[in-house]
Amino acid sequence: MSETIQAIRGMNDVLPADAPVWERFDDTVRAWLRRYGYRQIRMPVLEKTDLFVRSIGEVTDIVEKEMYTFTDRLNGDSLTLRPEGTASCVRAVLEHNLLYGGSQRLWYAGPMFRHERPQKGRYRQFHQVGVEALGLGGPDVDAELIVMGARLWRDLGLNGIALEINTLGSSEDRARYRARLVAYLERHQDQLDDDSRRRMHTNPLRVLDSKNPVLQGLIEAAPKLLDDLDAESLKHFEDVQRLVREAGVDFRINTRLVRGLDYYNRTVFEWVTTALGAQGTVCAGGRYDGLVEQIGGKPAPAAGFAMGVERLIALMMEASGPASANWLDVYLVWSGAEAESHAWRVAESLRDAGLNVSMHHGGGSFKSQMKRADASAARFAVIVGEDEARAGEATLKPLREQSEQARVPVQDLPALIKG
Ligand code: ATP
Ligand code: MG
Repeated sequence: MSETIQAIRGMNDVLPADAPVWERFDDTVRAWLRRYGYRQIRMPVLEKTDLFVRSIGEVTDIVEKEMYTFTDRLNGDSLTLRPEGTASCVRAVLEHNLLYGGSQRLWYAGPMFRHERPQKGRYRQFHQVGVEALGLGGPDVDAELIVMGARLWRDLGLNGIALEINTLGSSEDRARYRARLVAYLERHQDQLDDDSRRRMHTNPLRVLDSKNPVLQGLIEAAPKLLDDLDAESLKHFEDVQRLVREAGVDFRINTRLVRGLDYYNRTVFEWVTTALGAQGTVCAGGRYDGLVEQIGGKPAPAAGFAMGVERLIALMMEASGPASANWLDVYLVWSGAEAESHAWRVAESLRDAGLNVSMHHGGGSFKSQMKRADASAARFAVIVGEDEARAGEATLKPLREQSEQARVPVQDLPALIKG
């Protein structure tokens, strides 16, 4: 026997036992997005590397060290497995001229790829659901994107997810703030770690995002961007807060919240939980008014967020335990050469009636087949032997409750099963 091949580290299989939770997540998310009028867009998982470098920014964790980048062996193009969806979404919207009518409210879902150190809640292939409102610049859009989250957590049955918001101001605000921050960091250079010292000049705001415990005091005492906001940015931020508050959603202002990607301005926000250990952010987003132009489009405002599906699934499992698969209605047991074609007809007629039917394959005694039926999580066994076949009947046996089995005409089965 040859050596077995295993999956790539940090890239996970979702096994059938867990799939029902993923399905419940997908169903809930789709219904929720429809409720807010967002439409789906699907993009390829592979894009030209330049798209991500230009949008996410050179001096970011993602572009510096997390991308899966390789050369197309035919034409030498540099390609990258998408590390996030916003850049691809904006690329697609521009490529297909979707902003022609003014605005678009879109969502996408799928796998993203980042070469990080795998740990609980942090994988190399992980999934995001992303929501983007393009062509809309008002604080009402930011507020809607934020309030949407609160409803989804409720719909998913999740408690204890807290909202943090901040503003990054305009690019002028940030330039003013940047000068003050760099001066402060320079004064405390000796206390910085290597990463922060390097970023101090290339991307000083990212120093605030550092997770190094040693730096926390220094970051806490750093100058605040809030003090550099111009009147317009301040008004925008206040309007967002007012609308979110009026919607009955609690939040905390976290002045250290800067987000890891370069393209954000004004509103940024994160939904965080303490139930997952270190990887506590389940959803993150904000306004990114400069990105459309940066990718080559006519300037257009935009805002959005992405959530980490694995982290939300982990919370769902904690909240309600592994989901039981209770979608199967019937396990069909049959035996005897004469019964075969009757059994097939019964199975198909039940499916015609909208029931979910798993048919036994591989033969075996009635007894061993009934064991399979019990293990299948189906609500009923439908049993077809040669007697039933000759009479055009079947035996219906409830598997989840104590009640008698009964032999009935095939056409009566759907009504009895649906109850
Ligand atoms: P972090 O600071 O945890 O690295 P990030 O700022 O890189 O997060 P985003 O790019 O904003 O994360 O992605 C949005 C969400 O996607 C995150 O809040 C998280 O829930 C999820 N996410 C990001 N990277 C991973 C990963 N490697 N594995 C699993 N989920 C992830
Ligand atoms: Mg990251």
